[in-house]
Amino acid sequence: MASSTKLALLGGNPVTIEPWPTSNTIGEEEKKSVCKVLDSGNLSQFRASHGKDFLGGPVVNRLEAEWSQYFQVKHSVSMNSLTSGLFACIGAAGIGSGDEVVVTPTTMIASATCIIAYGAIPVFADIDPLNYCISRRTIEPKISPRTKAILVVHLFGFPVNMDEIMNLAAEHGLFVIEDCAQAPSATFKGQPVGTFGHMGGFSLNYHKTIHCGEGGIVVTNDDDLAIRLQLIRNHGEAVVQDREISNLVNAFGGNYRMTELEAAIAGEQLKKLGWLTEARIELAGYLTERLKGIPGLSLPVVPGPESRHVYYVYAMGYDAKHWGISRELFVKAINAEGIELRDGYVRPIYLEPMYQQKMAFKGGIPFTSKENTGDMNYAKGLCPVAEMVHEQTLVFGKFCRWPLTKQHIDQVALAFEKVFEGKEELTKATC
Ligand SMILES: *Cc1c(COP(=O)(O)O)cnc(C)c1O
Repeated sequence: MASSTKLALLGGNPVTIEPWPTSNTIGEEEKKSVCKVLDSGNLSQFRASHGKDFLGGPVVNRLEAEWSQYFQVKHSVSMNSLTSGLFACIGAAGIGSGDEVVVTPTTMIASATCIIAYGAIPVFADIDPLNYCISRRTIEPKISPRTKAILVVHLFGFPVNMDEIMNLAAEHGLFVIEDCAQAPSATFKGQPVGTFGHMGGFSLNYHKTIHCGEGGIVVTNDDDLAIRLQLIRNHGEAVVQDREISNLVNAFGGNYRMTELEAAIAGEQLKKLGWLTEARIELAGYLTERLKGIPGLSLPVVPGPESRHVYYVYAMGYDAKHWGISRELFVKAINAEGIELRDGYVRPIYLEPMYQQKMAFKGGIPFTSKENTGDMNYAKGLCPVAEMVHEQTLVFGKFCRWPLTKQHIDQVALAFEKVFEGKEELTKATC
């Protein structure tokens, strides 16, 4: 083999040795905006009492108004994280002991923990192997008389078919909560995800497409849910009487408030969401073009002309049988070429000890509380596709983001081609 085609894992030259630029979207705009807040001295105006400060200060209020405008929703309620936001969603929906929420096992852990936090039971539906999300087909058999909500995650930026989910929810009288942490400005049939369900949540954590360090925003078109989210955000129990709130169910609160500083950053970041998303879509489209001739890979599916995937990560299915090398060895060979590729994502949530031992709070609450009467099955094998994807097929990378360019994508494609060409060599060397 010529040295240029010899795999780096077998001592050849890697496709690239240059470190890739990091994606730092924080610039002068954010600095200026933050300095203005610092100069004002007002870093957070929230107060847990009836009155206008119950809803925070001017910069938080402006961010919420701009967010509502951008996503075309009636209410945006900022939070200090989407983890807090999801807790608030479950609370606002009035969910608690004796209730079940159907959720995906393939997601960031907080998408299910919020259910446990209110004493309810997460029921896991399996994922679709083509887009890694739950669907009507997998959710429907999990619905019981105890089900109160479906929590949908638009994983990796893929927009779930919300027509199907909303119809199913309407048939059974269920709430729909959308976790859009990885999919801000993804659309289904032209409408942004997060605005189909009763509530939708976005994350502004450092790792997400736009961020302010830590932060989250919950959107809703329902006036009553908006009030309940605001109560939970800000010590609701101390406020209900003066606000003349009569329904006290889950109205007790935490401190999930965003500061003026984070809101200042988030406001500038929101202005960048459009072009940051375009950059992701363009690079992902190009990568799909470059990889589509390589067999044994299932590339991301584009959900139709009126919907858009926003590629939080570029996720692929890897067929080890077709390649003749294990996923582990494949990823090692790609990494050796100087390309960062990862495998598996998170393991299905129900395999975590909290579910295996049915122990969240003292005494095994909520799994042991007498109101929770479902079968609470968290055994291995529960969601075979989610397990297979985690253990055998999923590989993913963060190639598709500003300021990376098509030259970087070319390197990704070259590495894949090179490893494909060299796979027999690799098998021989490792046998
Ligand atoms: C990041 C993330 C969250 C949590 O958001 P934070 O703002 O970090 O609390 C929830 N769900 C998904 C799918 C995520 O990726």
